[in-house]
Amino acid sequence: MSIIPKEEILEIFHNYNRDEITIVTLGSHTSLHILKGAKLEGFSTGVITTEDRDVPYKRFNVADKYLYVDNFSDISKNEIQEQLREMNAIVIPHGSFIAYCGLDKVERDFKVPMFGNRKILRWESERDLEGRLLRESGLRIPKKYNSPEEIDGPVIVKFPGARGGKGYFPCSTTEEFWKKIEIFKDKGILSKEDVNNAHIEEYVVGANYCIHYFYSPLKDTVELMGIDRRYESNIDGLVRVPAKDQLGLNVDPSYVITGNFPVVIRESLLPKVFEMGDRLVAKASEIIPPGMIGPFCLQTLCNENLELVVFEMSARIDGGTNSFMNGSPYSYLYHGEPLSMGQRIAREIKMALDINMMEKIIS
Ligand code: ATP
Repeated sequence: MSIIPKEEILEIFHNYNRDEITIVTLGSHTSLHILKGAKLEGFSTGVITTEDRDVPYKRFNVADKYLYVDNFSDISKNEIQEQLREMNAIVIPHGSFIAYCGLDKVERDFKVPMFGNRKILRWESERDLEGRLLRESGLRIPKKYNSPEEIDGPVIVKFPGARGGKGYFPCSTTEEFWKKIEIFKDKGILSKEDVNNAHIEEYVVGANYCIHYFYSPLKDTVELMGIDRRYESNIDGLVRVPAKDQLGLNVDPSYVITGNFPVVIRESLLPKVFEMGDRLVAKASEIIPPGMIGPFCLQTLCNENLELVVFEMSARIDGGTNSFMNGSPYSYLYHGEPLSMGQRIAREIKMALDINMMEKIIS
């Protein structure tokens, strides 16, 4: 089965009551500022949640409606879709929404209008497609090694699936690669299949900048909304241990994301930052039309030569946008107000409703 045709989604939207649109998302990831932003723009909001996870939405009072499910993976069920359509819902897909619904189902079964381009989601989740889009956009990405035998310097070894950096390890030689694989297999962190699918890339020593952009199809602008850096366990704890003691600890580093810090980048790098966003938007519209819609993110490491090396991309709202729920220095520059990514999305939807151009922003 192929991706739900856009015409089918537009037909569903056509039957909506436009005066009673509800902005809905799954209660996780970036839902707090998605819902808060929608409320600030005057929309009714809804959260899909389980009984045991509704606390933040109630305490922060960001949702007008609650849609309870037994498990997050139930979001694709027909009765939930039915309820969403009855609510005139526009769903904002985020990383957890896609993970729990399942990419196949998002593409083929989830017949509720979603903000953004459904077709591009596979391009951020499959490493080969992601690499192709970044390369063809002319962005600098880490050098890829085709086999462990090719390792000739510091590399990071990654494994398939969204695992938030779990099981990833750095190494510098072929021998070290196999030694670490055995240790991780013994610990049950990696399976034989994982090892066959290991992705080996240049370890970039640099400062982390995760750059959050918003592409407005209505205004044809690429906006820089904010930047964060990651707070990862155990690597960010490990670096607090003095080097002489680190060796004695015998702890393997891991890169599991636990939080984010807002950051700004030196001003002289901003031309490059904008150029990177512009290039990605242009290439995406060419190879995955209509291309990027709304939020996207480039996760980069800035090396000592001030090159921004992109090691990961999100083609939807990224978790790091939580670091500027009340706006970032960049979003402030545009609007002179503290604008979150969630509110920016809602503003685009509001504008599309006003000028009757919803077909530009939903799929
Ligand atoms: P998520 O999807 O949750 O972002 P992931 O499993 O896709 O995680 P990555 O984001 O690719 O994992 O990497 C996790 C972390 O590993 C990064 O935040 C960074 O700290 C480190 N890392 C990734 N690639 C490199 C690289 N090429 N050089 C140095 N460090 C890297």
